Amino acid sequence: MPQQDPGAGSPAHLTTTVERGSFAVARCTCGWSGPARRSRDRARTDARGHAESP
Ligand SMILES: [Zn+2]
Repeated sequence: MPQQDPGAGSPAHLTTTVERGSFAVARCTCGWSGPARRSRDRARTDARGHAESP
């Protein structure tokens, strides 16, 4: 398992949010994707939550 160094500037999980119709979904480089949200803000919160505790 790779070591995680908070604040190193190279997070193991790079998250993005993609829009699907009227929904927004959080995605991660590790293959994770969050639930479809009505607001992009929510999806971003999901993404942040995953990046902090995958
Ligand atoms: Zn991830």
